[in-house]
Amino acid sequence: MEDWQKNLAQSLTTPEQLATYFPVDVAALSRVVERYPMRITPHYLRLIHAVDDPIWRQCIPDSRELDDLDQPEDPLAEESLSPVPHLVHRYPDRALFLVSGTCAGYCRFCTRKRKVGCAAMRVTMGDVRTGLDYIARTPQIRDVILSGGDPLLMSDLLLKEILDGLSRIPHLDLIRIGSRMPVMLPERITDSLCALLRRYRPLYLNTHFNHPREITPEAADACARLADAGVQLGNQTVLLKGVNDDAEVLRELFRGLLKIRVRPYYLHHMDLARGTGHFRTAIADGVAILEALRGTLSGLAIPQYVIDLPGGKGKVPVCPDYVQRTGDEVWVRTPEGGRIRFPELKR
Ligand SMILES: *Cc1c(COP(=O)(O)O)cnc(C)c1O
Ligand code: SF4
Repeated sequence: MEDWQKNLAQSLTTPEQLATYFPVDVAALSRVVERYPMRITPHYLRLIHAVDDPIWRQCIPDSRELDDLDQPEDPLAEESLSPVPHLVHRYPDRALFLVSGTCAGYCRFCTRKRKVGCAAMRVTMGDVRTGLDYIARTPQIRDVILSGGDPLLMSDLLLKEILDGLSRIPHLDLIRIGSRMPVMLPERITDSLCALLRRYRPLYLNTHFNHPREITPEAADACARLADAGVQLGNQTVLLKGVNDDAEVLRELFRGLLKIRVRPYYLHHMDLARGTGHFRTAIADGVAILEALRGTLSGLAIPQYVIDLPGGKGKVPVCPDYVQRTGDEVWVRTPEGGRIRFPELKR
């Protein structure tokens, strides 16, 4: 067993274990965990300072998960957009390949919480081959996103098989990986993993930081190793009520990410997934945050705010509306809150 696997095995997976650290209602949380699994790595557990803090809320099961029944389990219609198991083909040129059914830690707000860590998401070597075959015979696909679950929870050997398989497909322009390892289990970013990833170009890795307190020295070191291996690093943040729905928190997060060589890519509005209602914010909250950041933060630090539309209709950007038309006149709001008239071309 590698060191990271030993550390992962030390994770908390039951409310009883949790109760040895914090005063929790074991019976209530057990009901949640029966449906939605928990796992908290030793590294992530150390980031909790207090009950209900932004780290706690992301990883500790909550009874409200079972009360939120109005939303669909699969809001993005991923199951119906899967031509073969574990592969979501929503956009003509891109495929989301769910190669891993498990994660180092289970985020309570996960859009795939209906199945991450559950038997339904177990991926066999046969599924991987079927997915690779589908990509190989679908030349419109130019961009494959390895996701899950967390692809970096696989062994280096298995990951190599998949990356080699993808590399042999001539119509692919690039490979992407989505992984929360730098945040949850930074020790997974080993020298041997980096030596493996270094061989595939271009390789983009989108990680998932949601709060500045997740930018630890260990996480920074993991990102530095990946960047040094030539991996292009981006970040996807989910806008979460009570965690990061605050301009100052996100300003610190996005600045901190640039400092560790990670480019903020998306700020996701919460998907309408069952069991996640207590994390939901209004779209207007996200827009107000973007307005507060614009003009006072490096443009490189500002991600695109996106909504993934229900029913698998795809992601669309949500932008503050800076341009107003009144008759023939065009007025543009300034980042400071004023507005100026802008001479528009006649068409
Ligand atoms: C988000 C997503 C992608 C990638 O979208 P980008 O906007 O290119 O990052 C691809 N396929 C599916 C199914 C997705 O949900
Ligand atoms: S790491 Fe990603 S896939 Fe895994 S539980 Fe968290 S949000 Fe879901």
